[in-house]
Amino acid sequence: MSRDFEELTPQNFSFNSPLGWCPSCQGLGVEQGTNISALIPNPDRSLRDGAVLAWPDPKANPLFAAMLDAISEATGLPLDVPYRQLEPRLQRVVLYGCGDRWLDARLPGSASSSPPALPKQTVTPTTEVDAAPDGDALEAANPSPRPTRASAARRKRKVDDAPETATASPPSFRFQYKGLYPAIEEATRVSFEYRQSLSDLVGETTCSACQGTRIREDAAAVKLRGLTLPQICQMPLREALEFLQGLQLEGEERKIAGDLLQEVTHRLKFLVDVGLDYLTLDRPMPTLSGGESQRIRLAGQIGRALTGVLYVLDEPTIGLHPRDNQRLIDALRRLRDLGNTVVLVEHDREVLDAADRLYDFGPGSGRHGGQVVASGAPREFVSGQVEGSLTADYLSARKVIPIPKTRRMIRRQPVANPPPDADPPPPPQRKARRPARRAKSSPT
Ligand SMILES: [Zn+2]
Repeated sequence: MSRDFEELTPQNFSFNSPLGWCPSCQGLGVEQGTNISALIPNPDRSLRDGAVLAWPDPKANPLFAAMLDAISEATGLPLDVPYRQLEPRLQRVVLYGCGDRWLDARLPGSASSSPPALPKQTVTPTTEVDAAPDGDALEAANPSPRPTRASAARRKRKVDDAPETATASPPSFRFQYKGLYPAIEEATRVSFEYRQSLSDLVGETTCSACQGTRIREDAAAVKLRGLTLPQICQMPLREALEFLQGLQLEGEERKIAGDLLQEVTHRLKFLVDVGLDYLTLDRPMPTLSGGESQRIRLAGQIGRALTGVLYVLDEPTIGLHPRDNQRLIDALRRLRDLGNTVVLVEHDREVLDAADRLYDFGPGSGRHGGQVVASGAPREFVSGQVEGSLTADYLSARKVIPIPKTRRMIRRQPVANPPPDADPPPPPQRKARRPARRAKSSPT
């Protein structure tokens, strides 16, 4: 079967463009469908052991056990291997069925049928698992028409599609296996009640056409130095940055992609600099924490690398792990060194120490403040040269928040009242705020 491809343009690589998005999900990467984790909540279980929640228990239902055996015989699907370990091809059989093919099921009790499910005492699934180590079971997954070594009972069963040539007794009944997804989809169409009862199985799932990569399949298959665009988008930012920085462009390539590459690495670098190196480019925005999305916006601003701009940031360290403070400060310094003015509203001691100049607004808070009561370099604040500033008083340790000698008892119940040391404190008094949680306490 031959297939034609049109020449790709830059728009074909964008999921925001009708020219580039996956036609099934229109670039969303998700579709309405059956939620696999609700359907198979524990993929470490085997099919016989109840991996599929919607199926009856084959150990209690001989009819269903016979059907499972028939599917297994016809497709090579092993029933005693954890679902997670099944080949994708065989997982697909479970999810999408065997099409229109008719399968023959032999009920236990008919002459030459195997005794797999009954009686339970003699051949339990566990003993079968024991008798069939994974290697054998996986071998059984191979659809070659030779008997598996799993057990004597299994050996008797023939993998044979043509019932008329089989030596076994005539099948008890025939059926088609349509697969979980089509069955559920059909069931949701049958009636409103069905739809309601299946609502927790059906929801937003990864688009099956593009596997969540959002772009059309031919663009998704294009490789740059061995990696496709979706693969790069799935890398942690630090790795993606390393990959792009390692690209060596030559001649024509440099002419085409040189500026682009510089722009991309530049932006990635700022995301890494503000402590987001563990995120991936394909992470959906709603899954980010508040701090993460704030710092992405910050990185976006920093990444533009404009000059002569006044940036006003309100507490950019909020949500940032203190460990990453220095990286943020370094990034802000670079922004300054490009020729910008950076004004921060900030209470963090580390950031105050890193500033070129501090302005203390006071004398009180809210409508009692609003005047610059002091200004100067951070070292002037710390050394006590600055007068009339509450911030300077605390920075220079003229004032401290004393650690309470006695503390309220901590009871084993949800904390309704914050401990006394957690009152909203004036700015830079971190040391005093750090509560000595284990301090000996006496009832107040
Ligand atoms: Zn799609």
